Amino acid sequence: MNWLINRKKPYTNAAIAKLKCIRCGNQAQFQWNVCADGNNYRPICKECDVLLNSMVLAWMKHPNANNLILDYALEKAVCLKDIMPHNQKPLT
Ligand SMILES: [Zn+2]
Repeated sequence: MNWLINRKKPYTNAAIAKLKCIRCGNQAQFQWNVCADGNNYRPICKECDVLLNSMVLAWMKHPNANNLILDYALEKAVCLKDIMPHNQKPLT
């Protein structure tokens, strides 16, 4: 995990495959960038990507959040029970 890397251009798929998740250190597969973080591209693993998607959908109060995240987790082969923090409200 290297927060000192401030990458402004998206990583290629080949580059992502060589990096660790910025959050947990697992193999990265995706990348996110956040305005408040200077729009720096950060490598993340598939589990953290699904968790981040679920958090954003919940924050948005998306009317179809539950079905969307269930489908997304299935598509990415991620078990939601394994990634949900213990203090996060369950999907309703
Ligand atoms: Zn991760």
